Amino acid sequence: MSELNDYYREIKDCKRCRLNESRTNFVFGDGSESANLMFVGEAPGRNEDQQGKPFVGAAGQLLNDLLAGINLKREDVYIANIIKSRPPGNRDPLPDEIEACKPYLMKQIEIIKPKIIATLGAHATRTMLEESVSIGQVHGQTLKDKNGLTIMPIYHPAAALYNRSTIDVLKQDFENLRTLLDKESVQQETESSKSAEDDFDQGTLF
Ligand code: URA
Repeated sequence: MSELNDYYREIKDCKRCRLNESRTNFVFGDGSESANLMFVGEAPGRNEDQQGKPFVGAAGQLLNDLLAGINLKREDVYIANIIKSRPPGNRDPLPDEIEACKPYLMKQIEIIKPKIIATLGAHATRTMLEESVSIGQVHGQTLKDKNGLTIMPIYHPAAALYNRSTIDVLKQDFENLRTLLDKESVQQETESSKSAEDDFDQGTLF
């Protein structure tokens, strides 16, 4: 059993807020436990609530297409939401619901240790940055949250379902994400070959 699975079992029957009364499923998250890239959305919608997985509806299909555009599959990344239970009628999550649920997301991040967190839409971005930023101003930028996590805000894919002109902005943001991911991987390779060299140098001392 993986640490993430154990954690899911521990929290799946959560009753910390009112949303447990109306949900069908607790939507924990989906993807690779060792992902370098993690997406954080807002809250499950109807399809997600029914299937128990994040981003499986129309916005999820678009997310899959955008991932394919930068040579990634869902299995390569991890996808979760700020809120694990569907707000009735897809209303915005309330502040006390976010407060009750955010520690679950932070624990998932602690287990997965992604190099980059892409926040999808204004709500996820503001919740992670703990700042009332405008998504129109910060999307596609590399930022740090208060814990030093690397955050790249992205428009929510659902925005492009309502306004097709947003799709080009989303594609550009995904390109920025790819560039940042490549940069992080090069940095990691440099660090691991440096520590291999250090080990070798140490070895020659004896
Ligand atoms: N929108 C979200 O923010 N999350 C989902 O899981 C689905 C749609």
